[in-house]
Amino acid sequence: MFKAILVEKDDAGYRASVRELDDAALPDGDVTVRVAYSTLNYKDGLAITGKSPVVRKFPLVPGIDLAGTVEASTHPGWKPGDAVVLNGWGVGETHPGGLAQRARLKGDWLVPLPPAFTPAQAMAIGTAGYTAMLCVLALERHGVTPQQGPIVVTGAAGGVGSVAVAVLAKLGYQVAAVTGRPQEADYLRQLGAAEVLERAEFSAPGRPLARERWAGAVDSVGSHTLANVCAQMKYRGVVAACGLAGGMDLPATVAPFILRGVTLAGIDSVMCPLPERLLAWQRLGIDLEPQRLALIGAREIGLDEALATAPALLDGQVRGRVVVDVNR
Ligand code: NDP
Repeated sequence: MFKAILVEKDDAGYRASVRELDDAALPDGDVTVRVAYSTLNYKDGLAITGKSPVVRKFPLVPGIDLAGTVEASTHPGWKPGDAVVLNGWGVGETHPGGLAQRARLKGDWLVPLPPAFTPAQAMAIGTAGYTAMLCVLALERHGVTPQQGPIVVTGAAGGVGSVAVAVLAKLGYQVAAVTGRPQEADYLRQLGAAEVLERAEFSAPGRPLARERWAGAVDSVGSHTLANVCAQMKYRGVVAACGLAGGMDLPATVAPFILRGVTLAGIDSVMCPLPERLLAWQRLGIDLEPQRLALIGAREIGLDEALATAPALLDGQVRGRVVVDVNR
């Protein structure tokens, strides 16, 4: 038996509770993992509350991230005792996820826990931090260097934004952090931001083209913010777009793309191919400095508290990252 959050949907409605599950409830897969920590991402908040249709199979254990130790494996790449991390691949959406003491997964989905991190630190980074690194890799792949000019990061005090600011600053980029929370300005400067800008400047409808300001951008907000960021890019600038915290729409024109050669690079963490995941985690181990990770911080909670924390997270009442100790 093992403890897990279980999401159910039937005639009695949508509900999530902490349950004791039998090992027979584990799905097919070639690796069984003893989970140490999971985390609460925005998507997990949606899955637990049912506010959006993240869970597409019932009953299901939510949790898109986990860190733990291989207990049993028939996969050639993994043996008992190996420390692993999992992000995405539909886990916690269509396949039972990480908010449980045990998980059965495909070995092809796993990445080794980077030696730089403990399992709890890997979950403090979680999908948010791994996605931030995918954005940085996209800027690098498209040739953006610190010499070309500043990088703007939107939703900067959030999970993706914080890691993006920390990593870009370490790599020598001049970072402008956009936030709607002026009280987080000192935090963002400590993370490495050279300047902190007001969210309102970006979230109102703007012009198709504006003054050229940025060589690169990491956008976790979408909507008018992403449109304005595109309009403010320097010639041949690159925008890594990964989020929709401000809206799913993109009220932009093609002007930045056809007149300034701007590149809009889409970032998906869920189905991202394994070699890029391995690279992203490897680079996090090098470029996310321990003191900056400590500054981002993470609150540790148990499975029971995760149920109560999920709605607060969706309401924007939770600061920083939340790590779930599934054995608490
Ligand atoms: P967080 O909730 O931690 O951060 C989101 C940040 O966005 C907030 O901290 C806030 O930043 C800003 N924000 C929130 N609401 C608004 C708004 N209405 N208008 C403008 N800005 C707003 O989430 P994450 O960092 O974990 O995720 C960020 C986004 O990226 C989400 O949309 C998430 O779904 C998406 N995502 C996508 C992934 C992918 O694979 N593409 C993977 C992971 C996340 P501030 O307080 O600084 O203003």
